Amino acid sequence: MPTDPSTRRRHSETGRSSSVSLSLDSDARYLKGAGERFAGLLAKMGIHTVQDLLEHYPARYEDRTSIARVARLQDGQSAALRVRVTEVESRRTQRRGMTITRVAGEDDTGTIVLVWFNQPWIRDRFVKIRGREIMVYGLVRYGRMGFEMNSPDWELLTEEEADPWSYGKFVPVYPLTEGLTQGRIRLIMQNALERCGALITDPLPEPMLDELDLVDLPSAIRAIHWSDSEVENRAARKRLVFDEFFYLQLALAQLRHREGAALPGIPFAVPPGLMNEIDSLLPFQLTGAQRRVISQVWDAMGRPHPMNRLVQGDVGSGKTVVAVAAMLLAARNGYQSALMAPTEVLAEQHFMSLLELSERLGLRVDMLSGGPLTRAKQSVIASLSAGHIDVVVGTHALLQEHVDFHRLGLVVVDEQHKFGVRQRGALRDKGASPDMLVMTATPIPRTLTMTVYGDLDVSIIDELPSGRRPVRTHVRPMSQVDRVYKGVRALLQKGGQAYVVCPLVSESEKLQARAATELAGQLRNEVFPEYSVGLLHGQMKRDEKQAVIAEFRDRRHQILVCTTVVEVGVDVPSANVMVIVNAERYGLAQLHQLRGRVGRSADQAFCVLLAEASTDDSVRRLQTLQETSDGFRIAEEDLKIRGPGEFFGTRQSGMPAFKIGDVLHDVELLEIARTQAQEIVSADPDLRTPEMRKIAQIVARKYHKRLLETVA
Ligand code: ADP
Ligand code: MG
Repeated sequence: MPTDPSTRRRHSETGRSSSVSLSLDSDARYLKGAGERFAGLLAKMGIHTVQDLLEHYPARYEDRTSIARVARLQDGQSAALRVRVTEVESRRTQRRGMTITRVAGEDDTGTIVLVWFNQPWIRDRFVKIRGREIMVYGLVRYGRMGFEMNSPDWELLTEEEADPWSYGKFVPVYPLTEGLTQGRIRLIMQNALERCGALITDPLPEPMLDELDLVDLPSAIRAIHWSDSEVENRAARKRLVFDEFFYLQLALAQLRHREGAALPGIPFAVPPGLMNEIDSLLPFQLTGAQRRVISQVWDAMGRPHPMNRLVQGDVGSGKTVVAVAAMLLAARNGYQSALMAPTEVLAEQHFMSLLELSERLGLRVDMLSGGPLTRAKQSVIASLSAGHIDVVVGTHALLQEHVDFHRLGLVVVDEQHKFGVRQRGALRDKGASPDMLVMTATPIPRTLTMTVYGDLDVSIIDELPSGRRPVRTHVRPMSQVDRVYKGVRALLQKGGQAYVVCPLVSESEKLQARAATELAGQLRNEVFPEYSVGLLHGQMKRDEKQAVIAEFRDRRHQILVCTTVVEVGVDVPSANVMVIVNAERYGLAQLHQLRGRVGRSADQAFCVLLAEASTDDSVRRLQTLQETSDGFRIAEEDLKIRGPGEFFGTRQSGMPAFKIGDVLHDVELLEIARTQAQEIVSADPDLRTPEMRKIAQIVARKYHKRLLETVA
């Protein structure tokens, strides 16, 4: 954030002073109560200026609106008390050598004992203030000595030190860093509000506030820190959450406009009857949802602007066909497609999963792997630039200098791929303005689609191929592994086939491969000597992988031990059992993906999650999978448990963490903000009108750099 250099200079000349006028851009150290020491601590939390501080919102509030009287206390109650310090004692216990400090405090109805363990310095603090009044806040217990509070929050009530917010209010509780106390930050915050609160201006036009029933910004900032009523606090929060979403949505809407409506793209012509042609070449009937999404994608490809679209569909909903249909349209128009995955391993899996369908539809597919320029690779590159390949699969190595497409028309990217606006720009510089399709294997809660993927249009495949039955799922402790294998044997005897997913031991493919090899050996030699056990892991060569999958498909193996390489791409409909060892080490969404490898035919399939259930949390997580096969519910649950940051891993990292908005609970506001933003941008793409000027500056400062760098 820019700091006005003249303010800086003035302050350093006059030294520490609280009477100088401050601006919102002034350094927070000039606030009363801050000084060098606490300013340093604030800086650790990213708070440098007064404005940063004012935007440091409370994490929660404590309701201390009523001050209790000692005589009326009840065991187990949380209470705020105003008491006079009467006695202080500290002693070490004989047996455990603990220091216990007891402080007696009384109001005019009785006495309460405040207790601290192992904080000997507390004694000195209280000895000095014996006879003075303090506020205490904490949980009341009825103990041997009457009413007690353990390690309560407390504040001395003097003019100099008293925290003006600590009683008679909803007291803000701020996120802190070590060395900073609530009392201290409240003091600094109060000074900031007093001296600079009036400098806050509202960038949003009044008619908009009226229409959306939002309070003005200065009131909202004041009330989020300090308010007497819950109603006021709620209104403040609503306004601030709206702002946060609104600026992001504006940035995303502008981005969408720039990447789509404002640019020339390829208007692909959709030949009549293409859908029926696909239907007739496939071994199955397209579902209604697949037809609808394919039409949406073709429509978008037909427009004279680049398509930026996300196709979202649960595991097994048949996304591959949709991607293939899009690539087919490109090919029929004489254009090539590139399918990009974030890693070599994933690229190979996508390649394998595409092969069969593409062949049926007459698409020429090949793969371009990274690494040294071998002869095989050179020949792929040559066919690519000669136009002998319709679809090429690979990593971002595909966009490297020496790879020339004959005519690139469509890029399909994996959800986790960081294929951002920059890469699109790089392609455009090469003379291509391809359409883009993002395929997501993770069911994304709608709220996140609006933020994380806010720059894309969305198509949803919300139907599974008919006749599918939910996979019957059981959570079992590791100690029952023998019984589980017995159950597997019973299914194999009836002609079933099983995946056994080896525990996640390491990020390293090498170590993971070793673990899988060991598990395969154990199953082969000790547990299932009568069956053939195949092995699939990320360190195997591509043709080795394809060979073992083919063997499994041809029923030459009854068991396939694998790492998570099965997650995408392996498609063996006859496999009907999956055992996931140490399931607690995976995220829910990932388990759901894994489980999606079975239940791909009309037969009943089974999944056993073997878990070393170390915490209640991990059991609860796994039970979600036992109860539902609805990917969206699972994703929501995952999101609740892990939070949006982790849910999206790398993808999310480029996105802002909201300070106050909550993508799970503030959906309604998110939608309102999005609609507003879209309306504004479609009428005024560059936010040029006078009432948008300040807003445009904020959007630019907050998001433009970040979005252009990382968002796909
Ligand atoms: P995902 O959406 O998980 O990528 P896939 O595209 O791999 O799903 O499809 C899952 C399985 O369902 C594959 O075996 C595929 O051949 C099959 N499939 C796809 N669409 C249909 C359909 N309409 N009817 C029957 N089976 C289908
Ligand atoms: Mg797939």
